[in-house]
Amino acid sequence: MTQAQWTRIRERLRSTIGQNNFQTWIDPLSVGPVEDGIGTLFVPTNFFGNYVSQNFADLILHEIRNENDSIMRVKFAVNRSSTPASSEMPKVMQKMAAPKAANNPLNTAPLDARFSFDNFVVGKPNELAHAAARRVAEGGPVTFNPLFLYGGVGLGKTHLMHAIAQELHIRKPELNVLYLSAEQFMYRFVQALRDRKMMDFKEIFRSVDVLMVDDVQFIAGKDSTQEEFFHTFNALVDQNKQIIISADRAPGEIKDLEDRVKSRLQCGLVVDLHPTDYELRLGILQSKVENQQKNYPDLEVQPGVLEFLAHRITSNVRVLEGALTRLFAFASLVGREIDMDLTQDCLADVLRASERKVSIEEIQRKVSEHYNIRLSDMVGPKRLRSYARPRQVAMFLCKKMTSRSLPEIGRRFGGRDHTTVMHGVKRIEELKQNDAQIAEDLELLRRALEA
Ligand code: ADP
Ligand code: MG
Repeated sequence: MTQAQWTRIRERLRSTIGQNNFQTWIDPLSVGPVEDGIGTLFVPTNFFGNYVSQNFADLILHEIRNENDSIMRVKFAVNRSSTPASSEMPKVMQKMAAPKAANNPLNTAPLDARFSFDNFVVGKPNELAHAAARRVAEGGPVTFNPLFLYGGVGLGKTHLMHAIAQELHIRKPELNVLYLSAEQFMYRFVQALRDRKMMDFKEIFRSVDVLMVDDVQFIAGKDSTQEEFFHTFNALVDQNKQIIISADRAPGEIKDLEDRVKSRLQCGLVVDLHPTDYELRLGILQSKVENQQKNYPDLEVQPGVLEFLAHRITSNVRVLEGALTRLFAFASLVGREIDMDLTQDCLADVLRASERKVSIEEIQRKVSEHYNIRLSDMVGPKRLRSYARPRQVAMFLCKKMTSRSLPEIGRRFGGRDHTTVMHGVKRIEELKQNDAQIAEDLELLRRALEA
């Protein structure tokens, strides 16, 4: 089964089973090999696979056979390796080969209505990026060009770009706003070359009022695309047209990007989206719960669940969102309430994947720095309060933030007994309730370790 076939199958499944089910159960699937007429679909967990197999297998097979009738059966298997690194050029070629209606090159890529400013939760890590995005979305005189937004995966770059495009569309409908990914830029460029329509291509790109290119790191190493991008970029800047660019890292850090392109990208306003902090994650979850409840008005989230998720899933807002979607779908399907039990059952894979990789050494180091004691005193035999307390704090954090056992932790604290560790953890647990200073220290340390 090719990727293109799978894309079409997915679209039909989406319309058959509805967006919510689709997002929960079909979106996480990926295509595996076909052998002896058996097509493989990869699933994140066995539990997930069983569920999909029981509920959607017939439908999925039906749609697959519509595309590819050499497949007689489907099986669901857990994929040990995550998404394979995609080699971009073949993907583009594949798209070009696909019989696709010649699309009007001026069409902006589809915008997701959910990616609005209203739905964007602002916190410390993204406030600058948000403010800058708001500013360009006003469509006033160009003050910084380009606006360059960068940050890790799932931190809201695409969301902000769609929000800008949609806001501009409302405020300044007369403006010609073109939003597309760098990959689409390249695709159109290659297509124009192939069809000998470079003049049209140039004309179109030079006639937009606002050009937004998402994930520009994609063109790194693609020399002729870069070249064309550079000329387009310069032509628009010369006309004082607003350009908005996103990338997964700062312009200077994109490898295989020509220096002149880098310096061009740097000459406007460069803002980064920082990794989310706990408060922002909790805020985002709360806002997404409200959205989910529009679909599931009867479902409540029990206290502690959102805090737990915000604490545990720190990597990426997309993962956080996916977790919540799955929780709601699952709770409604099996008629259970969204409590910690359900969360553990239903999100085992997500939670495992985002298990914190903080080490005992790191914790010991951070804690001794925080309390200004030597690392050797932290793990050494001295029992003075000024060492014992930080030691207990460190033990507590080791217990909470790593998956190490008590005996293991004890060993790493100068060969102490596991009961000593247990006692230390308990002591801090108590102090945390009544001693504001300790509570604050813990919070600070936890954050520093998570960062
Ligand atoms: P990126 O393009 O940076 O990889 P996206 O913009 O695609 O990330 O965001 C991933 C998901 O997380 C989207 O569904 C988006 O709506 C959501 N998201 C990210 N940041 C926020 C935020 N601050 N508030 C609300 N949703 C967010
Ligand atoms: Mg993106």
